[in-house]
Amino acid sequence: MFDQWVKCEKCGSIVNKIDLEENLFVCPKCNHHFYINSKKRIELTFCSFQEKFNSIKPVDFLNFDDYSEKLLKDSQKLGIDDAVIVGLGYLLDDVEKKYLVGVGVMEFGFRGGSMGSVVGEKISLIAEECYNQELPLILFSSSGGARMQEGIISLMQMAKTVGSIDKLKKNRIPFINVVVNPTTGGVAASFVGIADIIIAEPGAIIGFAGQRVIEQTIKKKLPPNFQTSEFNLNNGLIDCVIERKRIPSFLYQLVSSFYYWKNKITVVN
Ligand SMILES: [Zn+2]
Repeated sequence: MFDQWVKCEKCGSIVNKIDLEENLFVCPKCNHHFYINSKKRIELTFCSFQEKFNSIKPVDFLNFDDYSEKLLKDSQKLGIDDAVIVGLGYLLDDVEKKYLVGVGVMEFGFRGGSMGSVVGEKISLIAEECYNQELPLILFSSSGGARMQEGIISLMQMAKTVGSIDKLKKNRIPFINVVVNPTTGGVAASFVGIADIIIAEPGAIIGFAGQRVIEQTIKKKLPPNFQTSEFNLNNGLIDCVIERKRIPSFLYQLVSSFYYWKNKITVVN
């Protein structure tokens, strides 16, 4: 019976799992946004979704200690091959028009959402798909940064993803990034930072290096809310902080204005 209850990491309240799920995994007492996996995120945001490029699998080309075993373990646990799912989806809303968008949802549960060759390739490919079809691109970022087990190849993904997304920008195709806790390192410092609109869930950490490392470097104490969505909004790093339950309709509004101007409204009877 005890597994019906979960303790909120932020306020310590004991919350019924069913109530938590009905509230989209947001604490009803303190509004703390719990982690949800990439498949759940897709389910909550899109009314239909078709995965693409899912035949691309990671390779342990450096023969890094235990890397193959760790990939296999995460893959078996989560049912995905690497730390991002990409595809095409229709945004969820209760009106009759549906909008097709390119989608990428990072999975923090898979190797800490780190960006290696597969993550970089899939994000680049979905950006190319959006460029070819003139579709808006929506990415949900959640990552600890570059994948250290892939060495320099993982760092190259920063330039590759930015290069592909830059093609969208030059052709006035919107790229919206939703920051999910946490988004740090080489992911925060590459494609996330160049999004046309950066949305963040409340309380999400966004930054390059962690607070402790920065404090040790600059020899100063940083404020307790440093690198949170609210802190970054006040300092101009992101555009808005939106609660989880409002994100699908907010994305819908943003994308609808793009389609309005492009005169490419897809009507589903
Ligand atoms: Zn709470």
